[in-house]
Amino acid sequence: MIYLDNAATTKMYEELVEIYKEFGCEKFFNPSSLYKPSLDVALEIRKAKAKILEFFGSQAGEIIFTGSATEANNLAIRGVLKKNSKIVISEGEHPSVYNTIQDLKNNGVECEIIPLQKDGLIDSQKLYNFVSQNKDIRLVSVMHVSNETGAINNIKEIVQNVKKINPSIIFHSDGVQAFAKIDIKNLGVDLYSISAHKIKGPKGIGALYIKKGVRLNPIITGGGQENNLRSGTENVANIIAFAHAARLYSQQYDINKMLEFRTVFLDILKKKICDLIVTTQENTNTVPHIISLIIPKIKGETLLHIMESKDILIGLGSACSSRSKSNRVLQAMGYSSNLSESSLRISFSPDNSLEEVITAAETLASAILDFRK
Ligand code: PLP
Repeated sequence: MIYLDNAATTKMYEELVEIYKEFGCEKFFNPSSLYKPSLDVALEIRKAKAKILEFFGSQAGEIIFTGSATEANNLAIRGVLKKNSKIVISEGEHPSVYNTIQDLKNNGVECEIIPLQKDGLIDSQKLYNFVSQNKDIRLVSVMHVSNETGAINNIKEIVQNVKKINPSIIFHSDGVQAFAKIDIKNLGVDLYSISAHKIKGPKGIGALYIKKGVRLNPIITGGGQENNLRSGTENVANIIAFAHAARLYSQQYDINKMLEFRTVFLDILKKKICDLIVTTQENTNTVPHIISLIIPKIKGETLLHIMESKDILIGLGSACSSRSKSNRVLQAMGYSSNLSESSLRISFSPDNSLEEVITAAETLASAILDFRK
């Protein structure tokens, strides 16, 4: 099987399995208990946090582990809400941000959605204009890397400009598709969400980075774990495995290899499919391991299943929204609903080989040509 849907999830590092044995069956102690074996487990959690914090550079902050990035995004957004405060997001956000905002809107919270440009980046000028004209904004949330197109928003610059206009704004970024792949040091963000399963870590573990001094209210209350921000006994093995995966993945991720994969894949398709629309930008504002395509007049789902019958797994776009046929993000970039239904997302991991990429591109091209005959 050739697996090219790594933006949806990745295969866990096999060596992490040992961690589950160690922290499930041997060092199984509750990190909140007061005896030595528990204190040792609590220390392992602190070490895991320190390993993850290293990715954020010199800016002081803390890591709060959550059950997913979806939860981290919810904690960031719902946790900073105050009465009458406005929230601003981009049209390109993942459903875990976008639908949270829709829920808040239904409950009377004022939320503004800033459009995307044709290249998939947030229209930052529109963001700055909105921030200048509205003094009561509490939170701005802009994703770092788009899970649909791979577009990289220049978060450092956007944070600087937003804070120049209004320093009291809290800035959150969903960094799920960026973490351990591109540099996230000293972005200036107040809050940043990450997830383990996109980097060959386990599923069911995410984290929220919180800059020192930023105050949040919990959305899960109870025994007060995670500095009172996420109650519930810590998922120790997942936490330790997350930190290991982050280090392994960042060492394994080779941007030149991913660039080669993208170039080879697209060259094969462009030569054979003359009406191919590449919705991903082939430039430095885009991560090379995510390619977004439109193949006009063929539903993305149809091609996905033809490819599946040939033992090659590809994506349609966000797995979380794949049940909705049209693609909200592509439409926000200016593509029609019809075209957006013909979209595909190919995403590589360091596990893929050039041979797999070539086979997948040739198989996809033949599948399109055969279907059209
Ligand atoms: N944000 C982005 C950009 C994602 O791609 C995803 C996963 O698809 C999430 C958030 C949600 O992550 P999780 O599956 O850990 O809830």
